[in-house]
Amino acid sequence: MQVKYYLVVAFVTEFTFNKLASDFELEDFYIHISKQFFIENIYPEPKLYSIFSQINLRKLYVYKFILENHDNLKIYKFIEKEKDSKLYVFARGGKQKYHIFRDCKTLNNDFKDYHIPREVKENELINEFRAWFEYHNFKEKKLPDRELTALVVFRYNTSFSVKHKLPKLNEGYELIENKQNTGQQHVEDKFDFEKFKAQIEELITLRYNMCTSSTLKYLGFYDYCFKKKDKEIIEKMKSINEAHPEVIGENFLDNYGIERLKNFWSQHFQIKSELFKLLAKYYRWTFNLDQIEFDTLTLESFNLECCKVCKDRLVSENSNQFF
Ligand SMILES: [Zn+2]
Repeated sequence: MQVKYYLVVAFVTEFTFNKLASDFELEDFYIHISKQFFIENIYPEPKLYSIFSQINLRKLYVYKFILENHDNLKIYKFIEKEKDSKLYVFARGGKQKYHIFRDCKTLNNDFKDYHIPREVKENELINEFRAWFEYHNFKEKKLPDRELTALVVFRYNTSFSVKHKLPKLNEGYELIENKQNTGQQHVEDKFDFEKFKAQIEELITLRYNMCTSSTLKYLGFYDYCFKKKDKEIIEKMKSINEAHPEVIGENFLDNYGIERLKNFWSQHFQIKSELFKLLAKYYRWTFNLDQIEFDTLTLESFNLECCKVCKDRLVSENSNQFF
């Protein structure tokens, strides 16, 4: 029996919503986001504008846009970004799920994923690593995180890295990432707007105190480089210097120091992530994500699919109705 579940309204968890918003770009939205546009359409605090790069600003705008226009998304065109981030063993860009029943039992299932070592990515051995990880059934071992990490690192260092001539992982390798499936209680009953504003202000000040020169302010836009290798950072700084010698002098890196720069970037990145999280929370509260019922067709056009448990339940509830 075929059930027309697509006529039903659906909802998504905060986790899925965040994923959805970061996976898509609004077509025709490659314009330069001006300060004026930011204040009018994203958030009315001019001091925030100069902290975010254009990519960050677009991401924020899309986040708010999807919430704000959830009733009418069909008329807009979105472009999906590359699905597989190649960062994890199991997250491979498969479809995210939407739910139909608010008490669906899968809603509060937390799950884990495992980072793919950087050297594996750089040597294009992602498929080999994923297959190796699955072959050893690491996920099924049900070990505490620390023991599992030790086991994977040991096996990696004695087999995978040897076979592929890769450097060994150190014991402190961060293998596991616990991902929370946030269920449906993702909007607080009460949003403390004054507290939110104070937190934003505090982060702006923190960032202001860090960026003591126009050079550092500019370098803040490259904070995503904090995890890059020294060689890549040297290259990057060279190209920034060539493009903007007036902002980044030729000897900047020699004088400032590469570790210090990585540290600066890492802190800057963290501040920006916190700001992003706060603003996202504010938008979720403003547009009340908890209450939003999406049209399933719209969600399917965003490449989401119905959760299996919800789908089966809908089939069985519908058949109860008919007989
Ligand atoms: Zn479900």
